[in-house]
Amino acid sequence: MREQTIAGPIEFNGVGLHTGERATVRILPAPAGKGIIFRRVDLENFELRADVASVARVAYATTLMSHGVWISTVEHLLSALYGIGIDNAYVELDNFEVPILDGSALPYTEAIARVGIVKQKRPRLYLRIVKEFVLKDGDKTLGIYPSQTFSIQYDINFPHPLIGKQKLEVELIGTNYADFIAPARTFGFYSDVEKLQANGLIRGGSLENAIVLTPTGMLNETALRFPDEFVRHKMLDLLGDFALIGQPVLGRLAGDRAGHALHTRFVAELLESTSHWVTDSLAAETASSR
Ligand SMILES: [Zn+2]
Repeated sequence: MREQTIAGPIEFNGVGLHTGERATVRILPAPAGKGIIFRRVDLENFELRADVASVARVAYATTLMSHGVWISTVEHLLSALYGIGIDNAYVELDNFEVPILDGSALPYTEAIARVGIVKQKRPRLYLRIVKEFVLKDGDKTLGIYPSQTFSIQYDINFPHPLIGKQKLEVELIGTNYADFIAPARTFGFYSDVEKLQANGLIRGGSLENAIVLTPTGMLNETALRFPDEFVRHKMLDLLGDFALIGQPVLGRLAGDRAGHALHTRFVAELLESTSHWVTDSLAAETASSR
């Protein structure tokens, strides 16, 4: 019920999925009440808050921008921090795209498990959903419904022999995020590679950081990490964008074939829809349950 940060710094180095440029990212403890703050250490520590007001572009990856300074492909890192309940952290980056690592959030959750998590003095302020809020865009739907806990459900339906219909619901408590969502990797279709590259995207993409689907299977020679790894990665991405809400939530989040653009619009409109939620420290319930 109290805010949390990480117990010590962790560091990663690798290429950005879209730019192909190398970058080092360091995640550091931050004081209570700070939230998640990115710092461009190559630009005099310019700071960018991870919130919906900073979202700039969301075609293939979520990009934050402020005063002309941007940080790209933040969603897997933010998903990991939000999924395991880190409220406050500084994220230092020496370039403009967060490294893709292995295409999942597992390197983050493993490193955070090694250094540990610290409870801070400040009570958490939850955004508690009191009335359902649903957005639709064609056949895509994203909604959040009242619940005593925070859980996420996702449905996908891709006409591909390895995917088809996949559906999963995970309650975000304990190590559930680290165990069931974090390991799921980015995926894409080989038939899209040329078009994406022509648009200056996925220059750092490889079989080391993505599942690449062919019409009948995949190019990767290693096995899937879960039979339904695809829907799990969609959940990972949704949580990364939902993290831009900037505080913990009590509600049941449910997506059906959504995507980055709908995710970020959803967060912005939910925050504006103040009759659908209340802010709650849960202090009374904590006291009575002791
Ligand atoms: Zn992703």
